[in-house]
Amino acid sequence: MSNNPYYNRNEVTHLNVSNAEWKKILPADVYKIARERGTEWAFSGKYWRTETHGDYYCAVCGNHLFKSDAKFMSSCGWPSFFESIRKDSVRYIPDHTHGMTRVEVVCGRCDSHLGHIFDDGPAPTHQRFCMNSLVLDFEPETTTA
Ligand code: FE
Repeated sequence: MSNNPYYNRNEVTHLNVSNAEWKKILPADVYKIARERGTEWAFSGKYWRTETHGDYYCAVCGNHLFKSDAKFMSSCGWPSFFESIRKDSVRYIPDHTHGMTRVEVVCGRCDSHLGHIFDDGPAPTHQRFCMNSLVLDFEPETTTA
């Protein structure tokens, strides 16, 4: 992410960056999901099975999205969480594409597409944030010995 001037894990200010600009910055596979609402193949992403403790950030802008405490093993093949780290980490948009009624989840800072949310998750929220690994950056927790 060194060529991405917008990437910042400590910044929450909303970004207004055009897709033309993002296209110059992001890897093609990340751009396709983040800016064109793509979906990676189930079971293909790098995080769907990850159980390591740590933090998940938006791969586009660095916004802090999830903690591993809220991650759960889902059979769907995508990294799944039952809550975001802050209420405003993400935004929700009704999605009626592909003949389905779903709720899209986008990054609260850069508006990038992250995935969808469903109400079949575990307690306490019963929500399932079904995310694409490609738009997440994982930082394993550093343990002090
Ligand atoms: Fe973002």
